Order: sequence, then structure tokens, then C-alpha cells
Amino acid sequence: LHKSIVKVEKKLRKESLYHLAASFGHEMRQPLTVIQGMLQLIREETINERQREYLETAMNELNRSEQMIQDYQLYADPFFGKKEPVHIRTEIQDVVSRMRPFMKKNNVEIRLKLDEGAVHGERLRLNQCFWNICENAVESMKNGGTLAISMHVNKKQVRVTFSDTGAGMTKEQIKRLGEPYFSLAESKGTGLGMMTAARIIEGIGGHMIITSEKGKGTVVKVSLPSDRPVE
Ligand code: ADP
Ligand code: MG
Repeated sequence: LHKSIVKVEKKLRKESLYHLAASFGHEMRQPLTVIQGMLQLIREETINERQREYLETAMNELNRSEQMIQDYQLYADPFFGKKEPVHIRTEIQDVVSRMRPFMKKNNVEIRLKLDEGAVHGERLRLNQCFWNICENAVESMKNGGTLAISMHVNKKQVRVTFSDTGAGMTKEQIKRLGEPYFSLAESKGTGLGMMTAARIIEGIGGHMIITSEKGKGTVVKVSLPSDRPVE
């Protein structure tokens, strides 16, 4: 005869919680993708002004849910906060693929010239940093444009250049970049994006250089120290 009390806490170890969160996110994505496809089909139909408005709201909220699931999956990642070799090309590809709906909305064309290169840091933070930079670029191209992302890798550095053909900035605006809560009126943002990006970059010993011309566009150059080669 065997007797045992079933204690659930012990069984719900951290790893299984991570697993649960990851698979939940993964499974939620599938119905959301179907909904997105259906809404896109409706968008191509002849519908009235009011219906179009409802449709836009539904699509925005759908994008928001996708973003939330993404965040949720990121924080459930057991590697969150851990420093590891981060493959920059993979992270940029991830950011670009998540930003596709937004780029489509603003008529932004993307050009990628990516190379193989790794940096030692926190993957999720680096991903966030690239997201923030790309988001600004796409926001600055409300009437369409091109975002070109290129990479140059050598033994010492991984350099990533983000170049947009958007609104650009004045000398005064560039100077204020990275200052908390600095945001232009037309942006719906918080004014924390560039500050966060700069802190992440500086945190791993890199730097960011910005050149911009009002009405022409902006170039953001990020230099990061290369991951030490394995001995
Ligand atoms: P937010 O995007 O929330 O406003 P950020 O810190 O990301 O805050 O950016 C601050 C401001 O800098 C933006 O509001 C925008 O005016 C300007 N900016 C940043 N990147 C670009 C860019 N690529 N092109 C034009 N303006 C930019
Ligand atoms: Mg921003």
C-alpha cells in the first residue's frame, strides 16, 4: 500500500512555467494569424467608411495582442537576463518580421544586407534596442520610404547601420535624443525609446552615432564589441 500527498507547487517548477508560457504563446499565435488573414480579406472588399473604421480598430487591437504575446514569450524565456552570444542577424530578422504590419501600413520598403556576427549580451535587450531604432525609422516615414539595414563585422566590432528616408531631425532634435521623455508631438511614443536603446548599447561597451537631415532622413550607426572567439 502506497500513500502520497499530491503537492502541486513542487511539480510546477520554473522550467515547466517557462514551457507553459512558451507553448501558450505559440498556440495563441495560430488563431490570431487566421483572424489577421480574414480581416485582410475583408479589407479588400468594398465596405463603407464606418465598417472600415471598425476594421482598422480590430486590426490595431490584433497587432497589440500579438505584441503582448511576444512580450510574454520573451519574459518567459529562461535566458532572460543572461548574457550569451547573441547572433545579431537573427535578432534583426526577428525585429523586421514582427514589424512587417507596421511597415506595410506606412508603405515602407525594407532592404537588408546582413552578415554573420555575434555580440556577448542579453538577447532580449538587444532585440528591444533594435526594435526601438527601427520603430522610430518607420514612424518617421509616414508617407512611405525605405529602411536599409546593413551590417559590417570584423574581429573587434559588429556594426549595424539603420538608414531611413524619413522626416529627419534638426540639430537641436538630434542633441536631445536619448533624453528621457523627449518625443515630438506627432509621435505617439513615450520618449523613452532612444534612451533605452542607448543604455543597452553602452551597457555592453558599444556606442551609437546618429546623423540626420531634416526632410531627408536619418542614419543610426550602432557599434558593438564582437563576442570573444571561443578558445
Ligand atoms: P518616441 O519614439 O517614443 O517619441 P524615442 O526616444 O524613440 O521616443 O525618440 C524620440 C524622438 O526622436 C522621436 O519622437 C522622434 O521625433 C525623434 N526620432 C528618433 N528617431 C528618429 C528617426 N529615425 N527619424 C526621425 N526622427 C527620429
Ligand atoms: Mg520611439
